[in-house]
Amino acid sequence: MRFHDWIETLSCPMEDGAALDLYLVRGESMMLIDSGLASTPEQYIFPYLERTGRTMSQLQAVVITHAHVDHFGGNGDLHRANRNLRFYIHRSDLEWAEDRRKHFMELYEALPGQWEPGDGYRREVLRQCGGDVPITAALVEGELVGTGSVVFTCMHMPGHSPGHLILHQQEMKAAICGDLLQQAGTGPQGKRVFPLYHQVEPYLQSLERFKALQLQTAATSHFGLLEGEKITEAIRLSRDFVKDHNDRLLNVLQEADEPLTLKELTWRVHAAYYSEYELGLQIHATTYAHCQHLRDRELVHRCLHQGQMTWKAGSSK
Ligand SMILES: [Zn+2]
Repeated sequence: MRFHDWIETLSCPMEDGAALDLYLVRGESMMLIDSGLASTPEQYIFPYLERTGRTMSQLQAVVITHAHVDHFGGNGDLHRANRNLRFYIHRSDLEWAEDRRKHFMELYEALPGQWEPGDGYRREVLRQCGGDVPITAALVEGELVGTGSVVFTCMHMPGHSPGHLILHQQEMKAAICGDLLQQAGTGPQGKRVFPLYHQVEPYLQSLERFKALQLQTAATSHFGLLEGEKITEAIRLSRDFVKDHNDRLLNVLQEADEPLTLKELTWRVHAAYYSEYELGLQIHATTYAHCQHLRDRELVHRCLHQGQMTWKAGSSK
C-alpha cells in the first residue's frame, strides 16, 4: 500500500500566499482531512472535485485534525453542499469547531490586557470560520477512521491545540499530521507566524510519540509532504525551538531590572530574537505557555508589581 496511490493533496494557498494543504483519501468512499478556511470549498475543493470527475455526494466524511480556523472554516459550505456529510474531530477540540464564537473567545481573547484582537481582526476571523456545523461524533485515541480501503488510527497529540489529532497509517508508514510539527513557524520573512502551542510538556511528548512512529511520509498542513530524513529534521527543529525559546525567555527575565507583564516580556523577547515574526497571538500564547512551564520548574515566578500580575526570574521561595 503506497501513500500516493490512495491520498491526494489539495493545495489551497491562503490569501497572503501561505501554504495550506488538505488531503483527500480515496477508497470505496472518500474522506477529506480538514476543510480549510470558509473560502476554501468555493475556491479550491468544489473546483478540484469537478476537475477530477467527482461529486460532493461521493464525499462521506471530513476529519478535522484540530479546531483552528484554517482547518474547520470550510465545514459550513461543505455541509450545505452535502447534508449527509459526517464531521469528526477529537473530543477536546469539538466545541471550538462547532461554535465559532466560543472558539474566538477561548483562543483569541484568552490573554486579556496582554494581547487583544481589534474589531476588524475579530470580524475577519469569524468570517473565515464559516457557518457553525454540528460535529457528527467525537474521536478518541486509538479509534479507526477510513474509506473502507484505507484505514487510519487516530492518535491524540495535544500541544498545538488541546485536541490535536494525527491520522496514522501503519502499513504505508505514513501519517496525516496537521499542524503537529510547528518547526520554527511558517510564512515569509517579515511576517512569519510564530510556532503555537498552549502546553509545553504535552507538545514535547507528542513530538516524541510522533518520532517513535518512524514514518516514511508525513503529510502536513503548511509544510507539504515530508519524506524520510525531512521528517526527522522537522521534529528536531520543532524540539530545538522549544528549548531555545525557554532559554531566551529566561535571559530576558534575568536581564530585566523589574518584573515584566506577559506583554512586556513578549515584546522584549520579540525585539531581541524574533524580529522576522509577527507580534501576534501566536508569540504571546506560546510565551504564556512557556512561562507556566518555567514556573512549574521554579525557574520563574509570578508577582504583583504596580498593580499588575508579572513574571520574574527565579523561585518565589
Ligand atoms: Zn493550527
